[in-house]
Amino acid sequence: MAGYFTLSIDVELAWGRCDYPLQPHEHAALAQERQIVARLTQLLAQYQIRATWAIVGHLLLPQPAPRRADGLAHPDIPRPMLHGEFRDWLSHLPPEYHPFWYGRDIVAMIRQVSPAQEIGSHSFFHLPYHEQHTSPAAIAADLEQVRLWHQREGLPCTSFIFPRNVVGFKTQIYQSGIRVYRGHSRRWSDRLPLRSMRRLANWLTFLLAWPPPLVEAHHEPETGLINVPDSLLLFGRQGIRRLIPPNNLWRMARSGLDGAARSGRIFHLWFHPSNFAAESDQQFALLERILSHACALRQQGQLQIMPMADYHTLPNAH
Ligand SMILES: [Zn+2]
Repeated sequence: MAGYFTLSIDVELAWGRCDYPLQPHEHAALAQERQIVARLTQLLAQYQIRATWAIVGHLLLPQPAPRRADGLAHPDIPRPMLHGEFRDWLSHLPPEYHPFWYGRDIVAMIRQVSPAQEIGSHSFFHLPYHEQHTSPAAIAADLEQVRLWHQREGLPCTSFIFPRNVVGFKTQIYQSGIRVYRGHSRRWSDRLPLRSMRRLANWLTFLLAWPPPLVEAHHEPETGLINVPDSLLLFGRQGIRRLIPPNNLWRMARSGLDGAARSGRIFHLWFHPSNFAAESDQQFALLERILSHACALRQQGQLQIMPMADYHTLPNAH
């Protein structure tokens, strides 16, 4: 019984932080994004790996967003997008066609890779799909834009990655044609009462190179969706995370891959291209080591490597 390895990549450029002004270190990371995507695609081609790239749909626009006379971007989208929002969700979107907010060239790069990569959705405006805080009308508009632009560009839309991993509005997502999403694996640290405690516990998990959870694809009868939860984030080396020895991530990923091969379960690794911006060469060396190990297990018939959408057609997703 072979296990599974799935790699999902959230492609969002500046949209990941669209409700805050960009900080200088974020500018530096965004300026490297295209170069990073190019290196990632080379590695995936070299190791013959099909990953899931979940894109923010707004990257597909061929010209700057439409605006009302007073400057409001996308005036047709219902406002406010978040309940009680004091500043518009799109207030930081620049009026010009800025490479941090638009990225057709990035999507084109991903589409050229052999073996073919899966392109999925990471929403249209990177709105949190939070059932209490976000307006259902804005979510409906967000999903409609995703459907429209993916269709226009001939892109599939089977897999969905929730912005900020906030999972909600699942019935609406299924109705828009999406079938698979990346959920969050419950960890022991999730039970801690305070956010600061959870963050510290999460950091300790990495410091101790705690083995990541192996997961299973679950079909959810109440929504129709298949959940392929995450196992491990290949995080960027900024701030306090720099104190974690890079070898720990390798030990955790190896344990995930070997464990998946042994148990028949899934090891689901994920990251953003921007996680390769700091200490870039070291990060790429780490990823290459992981991909190379996954390939060795695949060659031995112990591991299947597949994108998220493939769990939709897999007979034993339960
Ligand atoms: Zn995101």
